Amino acid sequence: MSLLTVGTVAFDAIETPFGKVDKIVGGAATYISIAASYFNKDVKIVSVVGDDFPQEDMDDLKKRGVDLEGLQIKKGEKSFFWSGKYHDNMNKRDTLVTDLNVLADFDPVLPESYKTAEYLMLGNLTPAVQMRVLKQMKKRPKLVAMDTMNFWMDIAMDELKAVVKKVDVLTINDEEARQLSGEYSLVAAAKKIFTMGPKFLVIKKGEHGALLFYKDEMFYAPALPLETVYDPTGAGDTFAGGFMGYMSQAGRVSFANMKRAMIYGSAMASFCVGKFGTEAIKPLSKEDIDNRVKEFAKLVQFSS
Ligand code: AMP
Repeated sequence: MSLLTVGTVAFDAIETPFGKVDKIVGGAATYISIAASYFNKDVKIVSVVGDDFPQEDMDDLKKRGVDLEGLQIKKGEKSFFWSGKYHDNMNKRDTLVTDLNVLADFDPVLPESYKTAEYLMLGNLTPAVQMRVLKQMKKRPKLVAMDTMNFWMDIAMDELKAVVKKVDVLTINDEEARQLSGEYSLVAAAKKIFTMGPKFLVIKKGEHGALLFYKDEMFYAPALPLETVYDPTGAGDTFAGGFMGYMSQAGRVSFANMKRAMIYGSAMASFCVGKFGTEAIKPLSKEDIDNRVKEFAKLVQFSS
């Protein structure tokens, strides 16, 4: 079952207490599609880059089976650039630069073969672009998930709420859930966000794991405590890629499958933070992922 994703394909400059990189490949759709490619061999990207974006990175995505027919390459223009700095508490980061570049006037055009995808991951980028992708689908996908961030809440809240209204799953972090709902308690925030459209809400809490809310039910997926965390960039997108990658091959959209997807998403994110950029999530095997999921199961198993 095909999984379509939209999101940035970008260059990032990142500083963490463990080092600094000036220009590496990142972007929400990059992390999402790499993570999802371990679960689904029919992942499609719609996005935009400038002609400064390296061919070898596009080739790498293609080798994973990611369809790039919907990736526009703008001649003479620059790719989206983001720069961020983490302090000792790596749950918090400062955005230093967001240069929209090609994203500023991006008009997504879905190839015909994209329009019938059964699963849609609206990754982080301009809410109006997320909406234009949704509107081009020929039929309503089985499951539509959306990720976003405070940047878009600050500058495009109305457009963002219009997309939120149309999705099944919203994945945001705890601060963003508070900003969107105006509620401090995450339980109260979930109740409020359910009135805005989504049936499922995932609240990511960085190294403290993630919560899934559905009706009156809650599920907690821990983050695996790790000895080395170098760079949390992309962990949220990698989570989303693992989550939707898992759901797109699970068959039924049910709370039970979504709980498993939470663990697979968390497992993928636990790899992501171990190296800078996408380095750690590129060379994985199915066995690495299954073993990591077993570690998660062991972490929370007990007899009552
Ligand atoms: P995450 O750490 O999961 O929030 O994702 C970080 C990735 O998101 C980086 O690779 C950035 O290129 C990308 N990014 C940062 N800011 C934005 C934004 N405003 N819209 C879309 N993507 C962004």
